[in-house]
Amino acid sequence: MNMLDGQREFLSIIKSIRSYIEAEKVYGISEVLIPNANAVKIRRTKKVSKAELLAVIRNEVFNCKRCSLHKARRNVVFGDGNPNAKLLLVGEAPGYEEDLQGLPFVGQAGKLLTRIIESIGLTRNSVYICNVLKCRPPGNRSPLPEEISVCKTYLIRQIQIISPKAILCLGKYASQAVLGVDDPITNIRGKDYDYKGIHLIPTFHPAYLLRNPNSKKYVWEDLQKIKRIISEA
Ligand code: URA
Repeated sequence: MNMLDGQREFLSIIKSIRSYIEAEKVYGISEVLIPNANAVKIRRTKKVSKAELLAVIRNEVFNCKRCSLHKARRNVVFGDGNPNAKLLLVGEAPGYEEDLQGLPFVGQAGKLLTRIIESIGLTRNSVYICNVLKCRPPGNRSPLPEEISVCKTYLIRQIQIISPKAILCLGKYASQAVLGVDDPITNIRGKDYDYKGIHLIPTFHPAYLLRNPNSKKYVWEDLQKIKRIISEA
């Protein structure tokens, strides 16, 4: 290792320690145990909100360079909405508009998604919306398996924190990523899956519905399941 590599590694270790300490602070930990020193680790019983926990991951994602998508992104699209939502919607990846604004589903497919959400008496502010990938794939190409595999860890943590009653997976990539299967969406949809105690309903992606309006009836069926689950919760 040459001098420059050594310095880079040192700086990267310092950066990791700093983000670890920032995360600990959110959990109410104000001192760390250093072997052979007299510091004591104090765990405060502070109640940490879901919004604060999500902010920790958001910060990590904003600094993320785990795949090549960070190079061309204009904005990270972490997710948006109510951290205490009963319903979490998961899409594929940011598109052109989302990358520009740093918000999920703000383009054409997003307009349809808003109508879908409102059709079951909810609002965009009452649900939480995010994607499997947090950065836009160039030219809106499909996500690559290696991108999904690294970025999915953030999504899994978002799900754990929000802990909704139901997850509506929009399209093949979201459904396959969360369920951990390879089957086509036509085979996956139509069922109510159990994801760690959360109802998971796969459905068609709004962008697909814009091209295939005849499939709206299937999404309508899936939404009725969501409506029932949310009203029972
Ligand atoms: N399509 C997605 O899957 N996600 C977005 O945020 C926008 C379009």
